[in-house]
Amino acid sequence: MKVAFTDILAARRRIGPYIHHTQQRSSPALTGMTGQTITFKCEHQQTTGAFKLRGATNAVLSLSDEQRKKGICAASTGNHGRAVAFASRNTGAPAVICMSKLVPENKVAAIRSLGAQVRIVGKSQDEAQDEVDRLVDTEGMTSIPPFDHMDVIAGQGTIGLEMLEEAPELDAVLVPLSGGGLIAGVALAVKTLSPGTKVIGISMERGAAMIASLAAGRPVMVEELPTLADSLGGGIGLANTYTFEMVRDLVDDTIRVSEREIAEAIRFAYMQEAEVLEGAAAVGIAALMTGKFVPSGPTSLVLSGKSIAPETHLEIVSGAHQVFHEEA
Ligand SMILES: *Cc1c(COP(=O)(O)O)cnc(C)c1O
Repeated sequence: MKVAFTDILAARRRIGPYIHHTQQRSSPALTGMTGQTITFKCEHQQTTGAFKLRGATNAVLSLSDEQRKKGICAASTGNHGRAVAFASRNTGAPAVICMSKLVPENKVAAIRSLGAQVRIVGKSQDEAQDEVDRLVDTEGMTSIPPFDHMDVIAGQGTIGLEMLEEAPELDAVLVPLSGGGLIAGVALAVKTLSPGTKVIGISMERGAAMIASLAAGRPVMVEELPTLADSLGGGIGLANTYTFEMVRDLVDDTIRVSEREIAEAIRFAYMQEAEVLEGAAAVGIAALMTGKFVPSGPTSLVLSGKSIAPETHLEIVSGAHQVFHEEA
C-alpha cells in the first residue's frame, strides 16, 4: 500500500469543515533579503497552533463509528497530541494522550484543556509509545501515530495542494522535517501538480533522524538531544513503513541548521514579520538567512507551528537566551 495523490484529494474533502485553509502570504523581509519572492504558508495559524490537525483529523474521520467509540490514543511530544485531542473531541471520541516527562508544561496543559486524558509515562517517546500499544491491546483503542500513517500523510498533503494551487509558479518549497509525515504529503502533492518544483527538508543539527537515515540508506536511531526545535525531535521508527521511502524518493534535498541559527530565525520572524514561531517552524527562515538555501525563484516556507513556551520566546527575541552566548 502506498499513499496516492487521490488520497490527498479525498482528505481535503473529508477535513475541509474541520480545519483552516491557512493563508499563504508574502514575506517582505525575506523577499528583500534574498531578491526572490518568498511566501509563508501559515500553518502556525491552524486551529491547534500547528499543521498536525490536518493529518489527525483525516485519520480520525477515516475510522468506523465503532472504532471511534472505543477511543483514540496517541503518544506525542505536543502538537500531535493536541491535534488528536481536538480531532477526537470534534467527532465525539474519547482520547488518551501519552507523553514523556520531557514535554514542556504549556503543551501538557493545552492538551488537557482540549478534553483529552493525559498520561505521563517515562522519559522518552518510546516509553510513551509502549503505553499506547498497551491501550490498543487491552482496551481496543485505536492509535494514531504522528507521521508514519497513510491517513496522516494524506492529511498533511492537503497543505501542498493549497500551496501549489495558489502559487503554481513556485520554484521551491521549504518544509520542516522530522518523522517526515509533513514533507511526504506535501512532496506528493507538489510533485504531482508541479514536478519541477523543488521540495527541501530542513532539520536541526542535533538529532536529525530522517537525515541520518537517508545517509545510511535505511531507518536508523539517533541520540535524542534537547533542541529549540523540540517538535522535530524523536526517531523515524526502525520499522518505518511509509515516510522513509517517500522522503527518499520525493524530496530533492535536505539542510540542517544549528541551535543558534534557529534562535536567530525565531527572532527575525518576530521582529521583521510579527510572527510567533516555535523552533521547528523557523528552520526554513534559518536556511534562507544563513544562505544554506539560495532561492532561484519564488519560494514558499511552511511555518509549521507556534507552540513555544512564552518565557523561551521572550528570551530569544530579547537576545537573552543562552544560545546566543554559546560557541557557534
Ligand atoms: C510535527 C512537527 C513537525 C515535523 O513533522 P513531521 O511530519 O514529523 O516531519 C514540524 N513542525 C512542527 C511544529 C511539528 O509539530
